[in-house]
Amino acid sequence: MDDKHFLQKAIEKARESLAQGGFPAGAIIVKEGKIIGEGVSLGYKVNDPTGHGEIVSIRMACANLKTADLSGAIFYTSMQPCLMCLGASVWSNISRIVFACAKDRVVDDYYGGHYDPAQINLELSRPIEMVHMKEFEEESLSVVREWEKNNHL
Ligand SMILES: [Zn+2]
Repeated sequence: MDDKHFLQKAIEKARESLAQGGFPAGAIIVKEGKIIGEGVSLGYKVNDPTGHGEIVSIRMACANLKTADLSGAIFYTSMQPCLMCLGASVWSNISRIVFACAKDRVVDDYYGGHYDPAQINLELSRPIEMVHMKEFEEESLSVVREWEKNNHL
């Protein structure tokens, strides 16, 4: 129930990102039922190539909690996190990632290459629990398709 609620919010952030001229991905971090971080993907717009929704959320959550340790926190992301964001999740001890749109539903270029995040996750010393909520995939993908239309892809 909570997963659905928060994943829906992450997709709302993706819409917000699109509306602000960013990449159509958004993220929310939740701990003990409370949103402690959220982010849109304005990276290229604000001259910050690391400015993915996930990174922005992690920075906000860590600033809010005054810690670099987000153990017990859950990541809700409209799109499956990229290599950089998976890495940032590892370094911040995120326990679980719930995502809507899988990497293989979009072109590899959006992720910087043809790799399998699930496979990489398994090779980590402490793999993160990954949950793909397929029932939200089309909704998240529709935001991506809208962005593609606006960008004439
Ligand atoms: Zn990313």
